[in-house]
Parts: sequence; C-alpha cells; structure tokens
Amino acid sequence: MSLRIGVFVCHCGTNIGGVVDVEKVVEYAKGLPNVAWAERNLYTCSENGLSSIREKIAEHNLNRVVVASCTPRTHEPLFRANCAKAGLNKYLFEFVNIREQCSWIHKNTPEGATSKAKDLVRMGVSKARHLEEVIDEYTDVIPSSLVLGGGISGLSAALSLANQGFDVQLVERQDQLGGLLRGINRLFPTNQPSKEILDPLVNSVLTHKKIHVHLHCELVDVQGFIGNFTATIKNGEESEELRVGTIIVATGGNELKPNGFFNYGQFDNVMTQLEFEQRYKPDYRGFNNIVMINCVGIRNDERPYCGRFCCITALKNAILLKEANPQSHITILHRDIMATGKIYEDYYRKALSIGVRFVRHTLEKPPVITGADGAADNVSVYHGLTGGDIDIKSDLVLLTTPIIPGDDSERLSKMMKLPLGADGFFLEAHQKLRPVEFPTDGIFTAGCARYPSEIAECTTQGLAAAAKAGVPMAQGSVLAEALIAVVDSERCSSCGRCIDICPFGASSWKDNRGVPVAYINPAECKGCGLCSASCLSGAIHVKGFSDEGIMDAINAVKEYVAV
Ligand SMILES: Cc1cc2nc3c(=O)[nH]c(=O)nc-3n(C[C@H](O)[C@H](O)[C@H](O)COP(=O)(O)OP(=O)(O)OC[C@H]3O[C@@H](n4cnc5c(N)ncnc54)[C@H](O)[C@@H]3O)c2cc1C
Repeated sequence: MSLRIGVFVCHCGTNIGGVVDVEKVVEYAKGLPNVAWAERNLYTCSENGLSSIREKIAEHNLNRVVVASCTPRTHEPLFRANCAKAGLNKYLFEFVNIREQCSWIHKNTPEGATSKAKDLVRMGVSKARHLEEVIDEYTDVIPSSLVLGGGISGLSAALSLANQGFDVQLVERQDQLGGLLRGINRLFPTNQPSKEILDPLVNSVLTHKKIHVHLHCELVDVQGFIGNFTATIKNGEESEELRVGTIIVATGGNELKPNGFFNYGQFDNVMTQLEFEQRYKPDYRGFNNIVMINCVGIRNDERPYCGRFCCITALKNAILLKEANPQSHITILHRDIMATGKIYEDYYRKALSIGVRFVRHTLEKPPVITGADGAADNVSVYHGLTGGDIDIKSDLVLLTTPIIPGDDSERLSKMMKLPLGADGFFLEAHQKLRPVEFPTDGIFTAGCARYPSEIAECTTQGLAAAAKAGVPMAQGSVLAEALIAVVDSERCSSCGRCIDICPFGASSWKDNRGVPVAYINPAECKGCGLCSASCLSGAIHVKGFSDEGIMDAINAVKEYVAV
C-alpha cells in the first residue's frame, strides 16, 4: 500500500502562530514526499481540529498522521485516540513538537523558528514513513495481593483490600502482627493507649476470611509482572509459592539505636524513647529529673533528613511523665521543635504550659552526660543565651532517635528492582503524583518503608496503596505497554548487556536452539529503549522507533545542512 501522510500544523493560538509562520510550514509540508494532505488549525486539539483530522483520514485515505503542535506529554494520547476513532491504527501517528522545541525558545527570531519548524516537520514525516501497526495487548490480573509487612501500614492495606473482595497474602517476618506500634505505649496527639488502635485492627485482620496471614516468614524470591507475580516465602526450611497480581511493600523501619552517641549503653538510665515506652509501660511515676535529648544521630552528615515525628514523641513522653509526677522537672534539649500543624502546635503549647522546659543545643556543641556507678546524674549543655554551660540534674535521660530504613530494604530493593532514595528508604515513583507507587507497575508502598511517617500517615498511605492496587485487580486485566523492545534472536550475541541495564527487570535469557539469547518479557518492558541503545549487535529495536525510522529522521536534517 502506498504511503499517504497527512500533516496537521497547529497555531496553538499565538503560542506557535505568534512566532512561526504556520502557513509557510504547511505549504512546505505539502511538497514533502508521500504527503497527501497538509493543513493548519487554530487549535488541532480542539473538537474542530480533531474532527478535521478524522475527516481528512477518510477523505484522502491517509495511512499516517503527523501533528506538529505542542507536547506529546499531554497531547499524544489524545491524537492517537483520535486516529483510532477514524479507523487508523493509533501507532501510525507521529508527534512533532514545534512549541516547546521551537516557537517558545526562538520567539525573538521568527524566521529562524519557521525554518526550524520546517526541519522538524520534515524529520517527523521521514520517521512516520517507517511507523508500523501495533496491536494493544492485555494481560490478566490475579485478584490477589501480597502485603509485605504487618505493621499499621500493612494491616490497613490488607484490610482495605480484603474488604474490596480481594484475597490478601499478608507476610510478616516476626511472630506477631503490629510492627513498631506493638512497642509503643500511648499515642500522640490523643495519648490514648496504642492497644485501643492496634488490637481491633489485628483482630479484624486475623479473622478476615480473605486474609491469609503468614507469620515468621521471609520473602526470598519474586518473579513476574503486574497481574502475575510469583512470590516465594520461607518459614524455616519450608517454602511456599504465592501467586498474586499486585504487591504492597510496607516493611516499615527501625528506631535508630544510638551506639556511639551520648554514652549510650554505659548508663542504665540512658535509653531511647522506644526503650523507655517499652520498659516503663505500666507506670511512668518515680522520676524527678528527666532530660530528653532530641535529634540524636539525625540531621547530621550521615543522616541529613528530619525524623519528622521525633519531636512529637518527646513532647508526648514529657507530657505523660509530667502528668504521672507533676513535681518532676523535665527539660527537652532540642535543635528545633518540629511541631507543625495546629494539633502539634497545641501539643507543644500544652507541654510548655505544664512546665516542660526547652533548651536549644547545637550539633557543634552537643550535651554531655556524666554519672557514676552505671547511672547518669547530670547533663551539661551549652546555653546560647547565657553564653556558658548549664548543668541539669537527671535521674532519667531519654535519647530521641529517628526511624531509619528497615534492615531488609536493600535486599528487597535488589530482589524486586525497587529504587531506594539517598536516605535508604524506598523511593516512590513521584513524590506528588504517584506517592505510593513504584516505577514498576503493580508494586506499591506505604508507611515508614517510604519515609518516617506517624500512624495517621501510615494508615492513609496503606489505604491509598490498597486503592491503587485494587484498580488493576478490579479491572481483571491491564493494557500492556505497546511500544516495547523486541529481540531478533538470530542477531543476539548473548553479551547480556540488555539484562544488566534494564531498570524494570524485563530482560532475561531464553534458549534459542541450545544458545542462550536475550528475551524481553512484553509484560514487563516499558519501552524505555536502554536495551536497544546498548545492544552492540543491533539485535533489539523498540516498536515505533526502528533504526531505519530514526536514521531517516536524522538524514532529513542532514539534507537541510547539505543544502
Ligand atoms: C518511640 C516511638 C514512638 C512513637 N509514637 C507514636 C505516636 O505516639 N503516635 C503516632 O502516630 N506514631 C508514633 N510513632 C510512629 C509509629 O510507630 C509508626 O508510624 C508506625 O508504627 C509505622 O508503621 P509501619 O507499618 O509503616 O512500619 P512498622 O511498624 O515498622 O511495621 C513494618 C512491619 O514489617 C515487618 N517487616 C520488615 N521487613 C520485612 C520483610 N522483609 N518481610 C516481612 N515483614 C517485614 C516488620 O517486622 C514490621 O512488623 C512512634 C514511633 C517511635 C519509634
């Protein structure tokens, strides 16, 4: 069938039309080989513009469409869908960006911009000649989810998924559910016992028919892709395979043990906030002089991040200690008090109003704890206002340490190819737009696995991850990426570069008449092109981006340079 290309050049109001001479670009496009129709539109994305494309496809029997307009980021799906509406395979569409890449950056040189727009259209038409039809493929989704981690985040996610009607495999490596929350006594900002939140939740999870709880289990392998994962878990020597459609990583974090800071481990009465909550759970009375040191092991070169709720934990325990013994003297040595939002600001004011003292210290001049016979009895600290050290009597010193990444995060990250941020926590796909998703489809995250988060945030994120995971499972199938990499087995030299470089774990080996060759799993490939670009034997191409198409587009520039 002969090529019949339609070119539609957009004014984008004055965005493009105010700089580029659109009429000249259209006249130029008409003269390009295989172009059967060219026109301009005030807004090609408007209903008038879109219906004009559909009409011209039918009228002129067009079998390729090129739109020269704004950005593919927002408009490519729209134009593709429009081609499909007109009966043309949507992948026979080519986008040329003459706004961001032309009119906006050359607004002071309209003639040059017009000339560049012609070049870009010529390149687009050259590439469009090599486009091929691609058929969208769907893969089935197993309506079951693996939730890794039985803390508050994982419990919330598991219960929400189960209530949506999906099977849940909840895998926890400890011998009981609850995570960090199990060791916490009372909860800010209400100071209610943590049992009141945790016990009903754990009970609902344990008694839910759709939730299968695997305690004392470790995840040792994950294979597959969205809709169809096989996870292998191990309990001692026994292993079990779980087939699931989605995965939620809610493996939480650990409280930092402040080894090396403030004589930790040397005095019996110097401990972390969590150790205090666990050790003195039944009774906070009996302390008269309490000093808390905040920002221990955090906001320094090694861990530059803020622990986010450490200050509130210190405020909580200060208020509870003061309420248990109103005569006690409590001093919080802080570097800043992070008590954002109305509730926590009020919490801070409450601590102030009942007589908790606040003294600022600095990273450069840290407090010094001294004592005798295994017990601390004094904390001295540089006081910025007096310009000298002050001594504070102490029969209890609490070190406020942050949540650090879970000890299994690195192994899990390697096993599932999930990114970790600079702080070592799991890194979401996008902080604002995809906060509970990983770049790998079908895998989600929530809670302290992602970043230090208090319980309300953990719950919200657990519910959000469950809502996200529920979408493909409710739909029953997912549209696989269409423009993906394909291997020509005969040309593959078995070097393995594509396997090493693939960020989605889509590339692996397969047997080709006794020879191992690269295989790219269509369900896992995202079409990023890294494998194709790194393949030394030219054995891999990404659909819609054939070497011939790209070379023709480049040669189209050369044509101009040569003129
Ligand atoms: C001292 C202290 C006091 C606090 N006080 C409060 C408070 O008063 N109010 C408040 O809102 N928040 C408070 N918090 C914060 C609160 O504890 C956390 O927000 C919350 O418990 C984190 O829940 P999570 O499920 O994200 O993680 P976690 O509680 O850490 O749970 C993660 C779970 O995953 C499991 N796990 C880890 N790796 C694996 C693996 N590879 N396979 C299987 N399972 C795995 C762990 O065993 C754990 O059970 C406090 C925290 C601390 C440290």
